[in-house]
Amino acid sequence: MPLLLLSACATSQPASKTAAVNISSSPKLIIGITVDQMRYDYLQRYWNDFTDGGFKRLVGEGFICHNLHYNYMPTYTGPGHASIFTGTTPAYHGIIENDWYERSSNSVIYCSSDSMMKGVGTSAKAGQMSPHYLTASTVGDMLSLHTNRRGKVFGIAMKDRGAILPAGRTADAAYWFVGADEGVWATSSWYMQTLPEWVNAFNQKKQADDYLSKPWNLLRSEAAYDESSEDNNAHETPFKGTTRPTFPYDLPQLKAANGNYELIKATPFGNSLTLDFAKALIENEQLGKDAIADMLCMSFSSTDYIGHQFGMHARETQDCYLRLDEELADFLKYLDQKMGEGNYLIFLSADHGGAPTPSYTAKSQAIGGYWKSDKLELMLEDTLAKKYGAGDWILNESNQNVFLNRKLIASKKLSLKEVQYEVATMALDLPEVHMSFTASDLAQFRGGDQVKSMIQNGFDTQRSGDVIYVLKPGYIEYGMTGTTHGSPFAYDSHVPAIFFGAGVKRGETFQKYSITDIAPTVSMMSGLPLPDACTGVPIVESIAPRK
Ligand SMILES: [Zn+2]
Repeated sequence: MPLLLLSACATSQPASKTAAVNISSSPKLIIGITVDQMRYDYLQRYWNDFTDGGFKRLVGEGFICHNLHYNYMPTYTGPGHASIFTGTTPAYHGIIENDWYERSSNSVIYCSSDSMMKGVGTSAKAGQMSPHYLTASTVGDMLSLHTNRRGKVFGIAMKDRGAILPAGRTADAAYWFVGADEGVWATSSWYMQTLPEWVNAFNQKKQADDYLSKPWNLLRSEAAYDESSEDNNAHETPFKGTTRPTFPYDLPQLKAANGNYELIKATPFGNSLTLDFAKALIENEQLGKDAIADMLCMSFSSTDYIGHQFGMHARETQDCYLRLDEELADFLKYLDQKMGEGNYLIFLSADHGGAPTPSYTAKSQAIGGYWKSDKLELMLEDTLAKKYGAGDWILNESNQNVFLNRKLIASKKLSLKEVQYEVATMALDLPEVHMSFTASDLAQFRGGDQVKSMIQNGFDTQRSGDVIYVLKPGYIEYGMTGTTHGSPFAYDSHVPAIFFGAGVKRGETFQKYSITDIAPTVSMMSGLPLPDACTGVPIVESIAPRK
């Protein structure tokens, strides 16, 4: 039968008439943009204030997912960047938090720190970084290996983790901004031994000084900011050395009290400097010059610093997005001119959203509140000591993970599983706690309700705690001003996902997709292998047919 079919096929479709399909075509350059802490609804809230050439162009000429979410908890920066680019969750890529307690060293480790490395371009500890904790491949890793390392891969961001984790382990380089008294772009010995000449030249120009020599004013007239609250209010954190969180910000005067070059991170100009550096990198590393795809992973960190300091209702936040919109418009024009329209692929998403500031929303009687984890830790220590005798029962409590003293439990001949269960049950006595899970249960039984599966996707059997709990919607562990993120709820999980350019079919979808679906979509659009541990599925309707 197969032979017959084959011959019938051959008769009706002679080889000469077969349409030319090139399944290995790639864009000249793939640019993966992460906007740190960008909620999906910022697109809607600020839409009427955006220019035609930035976010509106990306959405109008590209493909947008209106309903794409993180599919795990905790929704933090390190895990978020890793998930976008590996197409999988912390359970596989290993970046379970920004910082986590490590049982073997009895210390808290940072997701991109690496004490075996030395800084290149900086002598500060901020240079001792690498992707060694990352246990899954990124889109960039696949590009690099697939092209026999002829395709170049770079990561850049103000934050080291925003540059390192997206680029992956095999990247040509990741560069991040070392603030404090240095104000330079640096890297680590994971990638190279000395900075390229062009990076030294860029650093010598001290562009950060230019940005910090002028005040930060509103970009538009006050009337444009009617989507945000009044400028002077009690729910935002003023810069150090000032008492009011209000425009204009006198940056030259604020610099000394706010960590010198650290200050630029919490202004929109951290994003401007990132774009300046991106252009210098594209020129000097000759990205997109030949037929072999290159990749640039860039993360805009300032949106997150500003979001934390001022919250999602602030004019400062809105101003940062209006400026980013104009800068993206400029960047697109630059790329059109360098590579030709349609020859490059951009995808844009965020590493997490952000919670409404509870002290602000309380005025409107909205849900939410504040949580202090010390309260839980004290209660657990006290109850376990009364029941089983004095001892250091809780080794660490962080990111809603409780780490029990397993040695002590074993020495008392207690069952770890039972103590975990007791602790998980005790946590539920506190009114702010919504749910709790034990490591034994998470490791052995998969499935269950949506939040449980989000916990499991974020759970690493070796790195996570003994008990993990979830706060009620709207509750954050943070100061009374500004905001944070980390929960499994929509305000933290719902992020934009936009695809634009080569390989993209124009359109939109309201279907629910996961953050892990971005990487396989990019792979399919670019003729690249799927990242090794990819658990997502491609967003098929966004992919242009091969030709
Ligand atoms: Zn972040």
